[in-house]
Amino acid sequence: MRLSRYFLPVLKEDPKEAQIVSHRLMLRSGMIKQQAAGIYSWLPLGFKVLRRIEQIVHEEQTRAGHIPLLMPTLQPADLWRESGRYDDYGEEMLRIRDRHKRDLLYGPTNEEMITDIFRSHVNSYKDLPLTLYHIQWKFRDEIRPRFGVMRGREFLMKDGYNFDLTREDALHAYNRHLVSYLRTYERMGLQAIPMRADGGPIGGDYTHEFLVLAETGESEVFYDSQITDLKFGSRDIDYDDKAQCQAVLEEFTSRYARTDETHDEAVFAQVPEDRRRVARGIEVGQIFYFGTKYSEPMGATVVGPDGARVPVHMGSHGIGVSRLLGAIIEASHDDKGIIWPEGVTPFHVGIVNLKQGDVATDSACEALYAELKARGLDPLYDDRDERAGAKFATMDLIGLPWRITVGPRGLAANKVELTSRRSGETTEMSPAEAVERLSATYRPVFAAGLPSPAA
Ligand code: ATP
Ligand code: MG
Repeated sequence: MRLSRYFLPVLKEDPKEAQIVSHRLMLRSGMIKQQAAGIYSWLPLGFKVLRRIEQIVHEEQTRAGHIPLLMPTLQPADLWRESGRYDDYGEEMLRIRDRHKRDLLYGPTNEEMITDIFRSHVNSYKDLPLTLYHIQWKFRDEIRPRFGVMRGREFLMKDGYNFDLTREDALHAYNRHLVSYLRTYERMGLQAIPMRADGGPIGGDYTHEFLVLAETGESEVFYDSQITDLKFGSRDIDYDDKAQCQAVLEEFTSRYARTDETHDEAVFAQVPEDRRRVARGIEVGQIFYFGTKYSEPMGATVVGPDGARVPVHMGSHGIGVSRLLGAIIEASHDDKGIIWPEGVTPFHVGIVNLKQGDVATDSACEALYAELKARGLDPLYDDRDERAGAKFATMDLIGLPWRITVGPRGLAANKVELTSRRSGETTEMSPAEAVERLSATYRPVFAAGLPSPAA
């Protein structure tokens, strides 16, 4: 993309309404625009990151054997009357009436609808196990929407639902989700710690929340510091292997890590004092096993091996896709702006032309731009007629992990500068070496992916 042709409405001033750094930086870098309290337009740069995050979520769900579909945002109230949640959900639910006076609602989650799909089409235990998921907009009329996309009213969520014959199979589905979430967050450059949590309105006593540690987090968390040393890394996992998935769950959940809802001082006191941590965290996902809570009242049954109909065991599993942008920025920024992890960056590299209009500099930039694209990279070329300082400030603000600076003085010796946004380190090299270096840097990032299931 050429910046002169892009739409990047950066703000010079700090927006007054933003209380936390991620909200401020998303507004300043032209990623989002607020349209109403907790409701945002995603401007091109923000939309690009949102899509990258979504893509990683799709890839890791597919890898785990989970199947994408798409349910609507609007749902008939009658489905929710069957589960009893139409009345229970309260004011967070946005209720709508259509021209025929039928009650609808803007879905805050999809347990009822997916259970309806299941009971309409699945009849036998032979069709299990089954896990379906979608990435769709949700609406919750939060009493206090704040912190930008972190606590919106309209927000994008991945929600997945497993259907299994037995409790044991459903707990394996739970473990599969835990493993796939660990991989998902790590690919985004995040450490998200599974913590024992509380069931809340979705119900269920078997649940973990994934928390990213950050001072601005809304949850108070208590944990054994050893847990922050755990990395999932690039280990290979067979998602059908129950023992292997169970071992990962045990590894990542055996140390003390709880939110304030389930915190227990007496148990926490058994953690050696120098390892006890009390901090704040951002919830970026949650997994639940809730057995037959929905399948029983809604009649989601299958014919079991002995010929009798039994209600299926279910769980639901969510990732806060739009909240993740805020969480990543809270975890990765400095006083100049965002620092995107390579896995989610909107553009892989920025090219800064120090002397726009100079024939040799322009043509070196054009050649770099073409070569990077030919290598499968997505560069942003700042080809505007601006001062170098302004170009650098924009690149730092929007947080691309790498910048190539091209000027006539360097070019005379066939050199450009390659700068890391994170370390600030700059190295001189030939344009060809810069392209080589960047392709090598992104090779593992691309290798971590899978072909798009939606394609
Ligand atoms: P919270 O406790 O933050 O209100 P929740 O536990 O009600 O969230 P879940 O039902 O577990 O949310 O939804 C799955 C994920 O969706 C959450 O882990 C979170 O990352 C995200 N999420 C929930 N509510 C919002 C919101 N208002 N804005 C943005 N993301 C949200
Ligand atoms: Mg939750």
